Amino acid sequence: MSSAADSVRLSRVLMRTAEVFERRAGVAEEHAQSWEELGRGDKAAERRRVVRRAREAVLRARSEAARLERRRLELDERERRADERDRVADERERAADERERIADQRERAADERETRLYERLIREGAEPGSARVSASPAVDPRRLFEVFMRTAEVFERSAALAEEHARRCEERGRGDLAAEERGVAERVRVAARRARSEAARLEQRRLEKLLSEWLEIEKSRGAFTVRATEQKQLVSLGGLEVKTRADRVDRLADGREIILDYKTGQVKSRGWQGDRPDEPQLPLYCATSEGTIAGAAFALIRTGDLGFLGYTDAGAELPAMKKMEVDAPASFGEQVGAWRMVLEGLAVNFREGQADVDPKKGACEQCGLRALCRIREIEDARG
Ligand code: SF4
Repeated sequence: MSSAADSVRLSRVLMRTAEVFERRAGVAEEHAQSWEELGRGDKAAERRRVVRRAREAVLRARSEAARLERRRLELDERERRADERDRVADERERAADERERIADQRERAADERETRLYERLIREGAEPGSARVSASPAVDPRRLFEVFMRTAEVFERSAALAEEHARRCEERGRGDLAAEERGVAERVRVAARRARSEAARLEQRRLEKLLSEWLEIEKSRGAFTVRATEQKQLVSLGGLEVKTRADRVDRLADGREIILDYKTGQVKSRGWQGDRPDEPQLPLYCATSEGTIAGAAFALIRTGDLGFLGYTDAGAELPAMKKMEVDAPASFGEQVGAWRMVLEGLAVNFREGQADVDPKKGACEQCGLRALCRIREIEDARG
């Protein structure tokens, strides 16, 4: 039986069969009585054997129907629980997306507010790097860096325009105006250079601070050595050859290894889940590595948010680590086995040219082919 619907159909057939046998037993019983009245005990005994067999068939059919009904109820219950799990997972995903959206919105609004503030300060004549600019409220060095870079670009464009104006003045024989314009161009170019150098100074300071905070985290780890950085490999999986590159491979004191991937941007904590994971690189490296892998993690190097996000075996924990969500939390070895199966499945599908139109949630929003794609029609048809 492959589905609840099949179980229901077969159960009905069995109940009808039981009814037929019951009727047959009833008729045979009447015949047996008639034969007895006629004094034909032999014929009556033969009919009673028919009655017995028919009643046994009734019991068998009813018990099989009851078994199928129990099975159907179990399947229904399992399906209901799976639906409920999906619903809860969807709900969580929607809530997480919404939180991300609100955080993005807030960040954008803060960006805009700060950008407007810095631009106003600079427009009003405050020198880049001056106390007035740098001591502005809630200075985020990264945003300040961007403002200086944009300011430098604006100054450079202004200098080019002044140069162009000077050239035209010269063509019209107005050497005096041309000299004036060249003076403007030079002053603006100096301002652009100052803005760029201030941006570089800020960025250097930010990176030094970030690096020293990161090294504090690394120092709090147990003994390890960096075995490799930017390690490139050609691996084979599901009949497909794939190039991998691990940012860093650390060897622990007991010989096991941890694979690290540096990230300065956002990483989804659900990126290792499902049949088509969003962040398959580290699982792929773990699934194809020949060494004994004890963990994989993103090394998050972001201002105000440093630490690890990953999954490790017992005894290989990393400091300041948040756990990546996985489908069914298990030992690290079992998790690697699960990733291997998922990735082999994807590799086989790719090799066989399987290209179903089945985009993941949110994929279409980033896609450049939306104008040509008929996914909406397919989704409408699916209801
Ligand atoms: S818009 Fe079409 S091509 Fe693009 S991701 Fe969605 S389904 Fe794929």
